[in-house]
Amino acid sequence: KEKIPNAYISEKKEETKIVTRNIGEIDPKNIEEYIARDGYFALAKALKMKPEEIIEEIKESGLRGRGGAGFPTGLKWEFTAKSEASQKYVVCNADEGEPGTYKDRLIMEGDPHSVVEAMIIAGYAIGATKGYIYIRGEYYGSVENIRKAISDAYEYGFLGDNILGSGFSFDLSIRLGAGAYVCGEETALLESIEGHAGRPRLKPPYPPQSGLFGKPTVINNVETLANVPQIILNGAKWFKSFGTESSPGTKVFCFAGNIAKRGIVELPMGVTVKELVYNYGGGIAGGRKLKMIQTGGLAGTFIKPEQADTPLDYDSYKNYGVSLGSGVILGIDDRSCVVDIALNVMRFFRHESCGKCTACREGTRAAVTILEKMSRFEATLKDLDLLKNIAKLAADASFCGLGQSFPIPLLSLIENFEEEFIAHIEEHRCAAGLCKKVEKK
Ligand code: NAD
Repeated sequence: KEKIPNAYISEKKEETKIVTRNIGEIDPKNIEEYIARDGYFALAKALKMKPEEIIEEIKESGLRGRGGAGFPTGLKWEFTAKSEASQKYVVCNADEGEPGTYKDRLIMEGDPHSVVEAMIIAGYAIGATKGYIYIRGEYYGSVENIRKAISDAYEYGFLGDNILGSGFSFDLSIRLGAGAYVCGEETALLESIEGHAGRPRLKPPYPPQSGLFGKPTVINNVETLANVPQIILNGAKWFKSFGTESSPGTKVFCFAGNIAKRGIVELPMGVTVKELVYNYGGGIAGGRKLKMIQTGGLAGTFIKPEQADTPLDYDSYKNYGVSLGSGVILGIDDRSCVVDIALNVMRFFRHESCGKCTACREGTRAAVTILEKMSRFEATLKDLDLLKNIAKLAADASFCGLGQSFPIPLLSLIENFEEEFIAHIEEHRCAAGLCKKVEKK
């Protein structure tokens, strides 16, 4: 891993708003207010371009998937466009389930037309005439505002037949999730839209080759899509003037846990964890001491305060072992116990594992059993080794991203706070006083 550069905390407080530019500025239920701030101008411009020119612009911008994985958006569009299938689809993944993540919700609630407009542009670029937006069922406000946006877009001629007289037609429908974390995994999501149980498919083939109903499909996250109209209007060069070379543009970060501030901030890629926590997040609530930060969501890395100098972009995991993921910055203060945190994380993944593959189904169960033993001061050093081996095996052998990623938080906790795990095992000591020996009757 590279040495983390020494970061400083700037005085800057303002954000760089691309996808959040309209949030709080317009009435999200009023299409006229969206239009007054350049809304649907990108669509009008795109419809005058050739589809391949749009794809080239998106490719050139370097826009990458904001759901967490960072796959180049333009490439996805290009793969799908190349297929000569008569039916193709655009799907928006709005099943935001990563704990601590609520950026897509705020984008859909605050600026729903930006997502609708982007989906129409994507449809035109790849040659699709139908789109689905799959929204987390509990996101009532998002569903309401996206529904109204779709209905108004039809009324204004931005959706439906012969959009703006271009000869291009596109229809858009909503589908609702029902509380399964795994349905945010793109192929499980497609299964769910098709009316099947939400279980992941084997990849490859990737959705651009065989997606919804077996047809070529582009699936993009809400935040990714919300960037598209601004890129079409302002150009790839403008977009690349924000962020880092490998990760252009901005990222919407969500504060969670013991960070003083609640809410989201949009900042250029490459901002450091330290800046986020102290400058934009207001530090740790109640002025308490920071013990650790989890970056990237529950499936992300736990890091020590010393690692907070890390700049966050799609390379920070590869370079520094720190996840960008979905953009969560979860602060944890000094009252916490690492075994308790690990147990909480693993109970979540055990509950959400779809059970399809052994490595994830049994791995999450076994990890919970060991951590429960640890929290009762009954575990041995062999159990700790077993826990590490289970995590490594699940990372290699799991069928989908869920089982492949629960080892990330687990192993980063063990790597950074191993002495606390050992204190539970050898000294029956919990620094936070949360774990207790259970007397056998
Ligand atoms: P992945 O790397 O397998 O795929 C990412 C995207 O790239 C997918 O759309 C995939 O189809 C596409 N892709 C990859 N290779 C391709 C190829 N050769 N051709 C065409 N397309 C290709 O990752 P994933 O399992 O889809 O997602 C994992 C990420 O999801 C993690 O980074 C995690 O942070 C994130 N996540 C986000 C949430 C949330 O609520 N936002 C929840 C859970 C996980």
